[in-house]
Amino acid sequence: MDWTPGGLSRDVEDRRGSSGGFGGGGIGIVGLLFLVIISLITGRNYIGSYLSGGGHVATTNSRPATSSAAEDRSAQLVSYVLDDVQHEWETLLPQQANQAYRHAKLVLFRDYTRSGCGTAQSQTGPFYCPGDEKVYIDLSFWDELRRIGGSTADFAQAYVLAHELGHHVQNILGIDQHMRQLQARNPDAKNQLSVMLELQADCLAGVWAHTAAQRGKIDQADVNDGLSAAAAVGDDHLQKMSRGAVSPESFTHGTSAQRQSWFTRGLQSGDLNQCNTFETKANGSF
Ligand SMILES: [Zn+2]
Repeated sequence: MDWTPGGLSRDVEDRRGSSGGFGGGGIGIVGLLFLVIISLITGRNYIGSYLSGGGHVATTNSRPATSSAAEDRSAQLVSYVLDDVQHEWETLLPQQANQAYRHAKLVLFRDYTRSGCGTAQSQTGPFYCPGDEKVYIDLSFWDELRRIGGSTADFAQAYVLAHELGHHVQNILGIDQHMRQLQARNPDAKNQLSVMLELQADCLAGVWAHTAAQRGKIDQADVNDGLSAAAAVGDDHLQKMSRGAVSPESFTHGTSAQRQSWFTRGLQSGDLNQCNTFETKANGSF
């Protein structure tokens, strides 16, 4: 993939240096020392009143706040992809869906952080929260992706982020809201509906990849890396990895083959109207 490392996008919220990922709540060691000194000088217990007032002192994180060169490169890569994907949707969404695009934010964190959808944890993997319109990624996810046999090449990382931004597009279009209503009405079809939503996000990632290919940013080898990542995060593959058996009714994201096929559909057409995974189900050819 052809990209140039640069600074971080203004749509990136970098929380990697925050203690425990929850920065903002504590006063830090310097603040604490200040309270000790003031208490000594005035003879009043400011520390006790600070702590009893619900304040907490920031402590260091379980992982170092400074990042490795590899992680910095990865942060710049996702930042670059974030800007590229959002720039393309600014044109595509009005063209293809008559809708204005609004930017999502990308939160980089370590271990855990607060999100509009509850606590974000590394173990959960990258996700999009429609409540605050932010994508959450702990960059250690790439180690996990490598462990389950997926490519972590540049374009594999790009595909994962483009998929999450696909959920943002679904949010703008009101699709995920509609799906939650359908799920509430048909609890039995809950997983099936989730699969459709996820495959659509794969297809939308493909629509962006189409523009990247047109602009000469990616080649066939990159596409193969993206397909490898899509296969690695397929439900059947993940289930085989974790329990050695596959139970299709518990799928929430789709099989490796389905994920690759919908990504390819977006990639080849470059048209979000080709990403109607819901309609395909009704036609029985899903
Ligand atoms: Zn998803």
